[in-house]
Amino acid sequence: MQDILKLKEVLEIPQNIIITTHHKPDADALGSSLGLYNYLIKKGHQVTVITPSDYADFLAWMKGNDKVVVFSDGNESLSQSLVNKADIIFCLDFSNLKRIKELGELVRNSSAKKVLIDHHREPEQFADYGYHDVGSASTAQLVYKTIVAYGDKHLVDKDIAECFYAGIMTDTGSFKHPNTNKEVHEIVAELIDLGANNSEVSRLIYDTNSLDRLKFLGFALSQRLKVFPEYHVAYFAISMKDLEKFKSRTGDTEGLVNYALSINGITMAALFTESEEGVKLSLRSIGDFEVNTLAAHYFNGGGHKNAAGGISYKSLDDTVAFFENIIKEYSVQLKNKKPIETYV
Ligand code: 5GP
Ligand code: MN
Repeated sequence: MQDILKLKEVLEIPQNIIITTHHKPDADALGSSLGLYNYLIKKGHQVTVITPSDYADFLAWMKGNDKVVVFSDGNESLSQSLVNKADIIFCLDFSNLKRIKELGELVRNSSAKKVLIDHHREPEQFADYGYHDVGSASTAQLVYKTIVAYGDKHLVDKDIAECFYAGIMTDTGSFKHPNTNKEVHEIVAELIDLGANNSEVSRLIYDTNSLDRLKFLGFALSQRLKVFPEYHVAYFAISMKDLEKFKSRTGDTEGLVNYALSINGITMAALFTESEEGVKLSLRSIGDFEVNTLAAHYFNGGGHKNAAGGISYKSLDDTVAFFENIIKEYSVQLKNKKPIETYV
């Protein structure tokens, strides 16, 4: 994989470019993609963002959202023809082509030059150019740093800055996670300088709930949260029926797992969400406990040390039972000095 700075000269002439990101894109995935999209358009390229699936409505304000091709919304053959025509394919915020499902095979088989920009652990070796940094809090800041390194900081306008700001804000848990270092603050300060309205981006992402979503949150907290004080673990298990009852939309469960992690004394929190494709798992941890290793070992997944995900093809009940057995194996590593005083 060559350094991404070597790509600069390739980008001096207009190219046909695809940008893709992971399944169910979050703000970092979509923000880094649309920030890069708007920049490359300014540079005179032909660019399309293809996402493997749909994403939350609270991301729809990003500039270029209306041009995104959602692969799973009946755009399989359109995506195939766009990939066939592509000279360059950017892969953002994922490190393994499995993460973009069928679209991954199109990318793998394409003769286009592939570029990986990402911060997840253990990248697959499929790219020609790359900028991979597991120490980076977000992919958005890696894309921003690439643009700056290309000497194009002046092209980052308010819209682009807000796309990147959104990615950094959410991947740092609003500047709360341990990945929030000095560089993060320096970059967001630059983005604000470039026009990003930080308060408005935060409102658009966090304070645009539907009433159904808030009622669902109340239901999940009171009925679907299970705590294991002896293991310092808490989880939510949400069925498709639960989701239907609260007219849940894509993105409505985002952030839920953090409520389980916020219980004093918890080391690891999980969210199991039943879907047509299987039971989606989100894992979060505090401190040295590595959830990406657990996700990779038992749930075909991966991610970061303190935030990872995966999938199970067992039923929801069987998945949860399986998980309850797994945590027993990890009881020593899960030990936390803080006792859990209150639990349901
Ligand atoms: P979330 O729980 O928010 O869906 O994901 C947390 C982190 O784990 C994200 O960085 C995400 O990219 C990663 N992740 C989530 N699901 C999967 C998965 O199925 N496979 C892999 N490799 N990573 C995942
Ligand atoms: Mn990310």
